[in-house]
Amino acid sequence: MRIGILDVNVKRGKPGQCWVCKESIALKELHTVVVLRYGKFQQQAFKLAAAQGRAKSKKAGFKYRRLHLKGCLATWLVAIHHYRSEARSQRKGRPTGSGQLPQMSDEDKLVRYRLVRRRAETLRLLIATEDDHRIVNLYQRLKYLNNQLEINVIDDMARREQTNIRLLNARFKRAEELINGQSTGTS
Ligand SMILES: [Zn+2]
Repeated sequence: MRIGILDVNVKRGKPGQCWVCKESIALKELHTVVVLRYGKFQQQAFKLAAAQGRAKSKKAGFKYRRLHLKGCLATWLVAIHHYRSEARSQRKGRPTGSGQLPQMSDEDKLVRYRLVRRRAETLRLLIATEDDHRIVNLYQRLKYLNNQLEINVIDDMARREQTNIRLLNARFKRAEELINGQSTGTS
């Protein structure tokens, strides 16, 4: 099973945090960075983030795990292998919690679940409408929901149909035009 690209680095700049034990990774400490999303998948995630105005840098959509070399790397590898094997055997994709989300309290999970549901609904409504006023309203609601979500939802977009992604990108563009007052033409 290919997990990702494994780098061994010395921590520079500022201390980091280990994904597994949540303890600090000190400056100059030798540790590992496993890159999970890169290449064309990262580019795809970047494009979606850019279309939604949440791409802070070219690295948006890039996914990695920073880990202590001793113990934590092994623990993590065994866990990710287990989750992925199970997900494969069930043919339902990754189980919840094994993806890009850190460990959360039940309350945080519920809050996030509701936000994600509302966001998905907003996206569906946005696809379904051609009304300019409504597009702007829904777009602003989406931005609000994105801001509420500490970790953005990328994967649910990635699983959408190509036609829906194109439609959504067109809606985002239209909303930006309307908000910035660049265009008054009818669509
Ligand atoms: Zn650790």
